[in-house]
Amino acid sequence: MPLLSVIVPCFNEEAALPHFYTEAVSALAEIGGGVQAEFVFVDDGSMDGTMRVIKGLRAQDRRVRYISFSRNFGKEAAIFAGLKECVGDFATLMDADLQDPPALLKDMYAALTREGCDCAAARRVNRKGEPPIRSLFARVFYRVINKISQTEIVDGARDFRMMTRKYVNSVCEISEYNRFSKGIFSWVGFKTKWLEYENAPRVAGNTKWSFWKLFKYSLDGILAYSTVPLYISSAVGLLCFVASLIMILFYFIKTLIWGDPVAGYPSLICFILMIGGIQLFSIGVLGQYLAKTYLETKRRPAYIVSERESDSVDGEQRTENS
Ligand code: UDP
Ligand code: MG
Repeated sequence: MPLLSVIVPCFNEEAALPHFYTEAVSALAEIGGGVQAEFVFVDDGSMDGTMRVIKGLRAQDRRVRYISFSRNFGKEAAIFAGLKECVGDFATLMDADLQDPPALLKDMYAALTREGCDCAAARRVNRKGEPPIRSLFARVFYRVINKISQTEIVDGARDFRMMTRKYVNSVCEISEYNRFSKGIFSWVGFKTKWLEYENAPRVAGNTKWSFWKLFKYSLDGILAYSTVPLYISSAVGLLCFVASLIMILFYFIKTLIWGDPVAGYPSLICFILMIGGIQLFSIGVLGQYLAKTYLETKRRPAYIVSERESDSVDGEQRTENS
């Protein structure tokens, strides 16, 4: 019988988890085809009672497994941990807040088993209920990154998706520290089917993404999937250099012919400022890439596990390391 792993990253989801569990269980029952399920809850260093809720679920349902991080490592790390931990023939990634409609699971499963896809992913067609400024920045981000990166990042794509074992293994092989899943999923290739749905509001609790967290995340995405910013800064630098050569020539000739009646103090300051700004900007871009390289070369693990309950559905006890 095929086993489907449901991976759920949780960060302070005490309020949402019980709802999620009930909805997910009934949606899973509807898939049919003798599919067995396991839940892999990844507690991303929650400060509230998330772990208590998860342990409660575990006590009543042996299909529930969990990993708990020693601190908040971010959703990307939680996704990575869940994918590495799950043992199913199929795996699905879902948010704990029911913004990823469990009703889609059935269609996703059908896409994988009947249509021969390796991945079925959800894409929201609108951003209803989201602050307008956040939607605006999101749209700009997708436009920019798709212009400058060769890996396609689909606008509105969620992390909500179902994958075959082959696909999961390929994603796990990518062990980079600065993870940007939307890019990784697209980069590994395979046949992906997109399912569209309308955005749903959170069932309980608050979003864990502040504007800054999202801004940093989008920069991570751009830096990880494109080296175009490096080219831009080099090109701008070159342009300025050529422009200054022309200007020097122009002033040289002008002085020879008409002399130098006025000392151009203001324009001088302006140009110094401009060139200085461009230099700093370029150094900054370089620095960003260097910082990413620096973090990668440290080869730090993406997360640290403090606690886990990981015997799987078939009762097989997995190694306990904390
Ligand atoms: N999440 C996480 N670690 C974090 C932030 C979020 O594991 O540092 C989880 C969170 O618990 C939820 C999912 O990622 O299950 C999506 O988070 P959220 O709903 O806050 O994001 P949004 O839907 O607003 O984009
Ligand atoms: Mg959400």
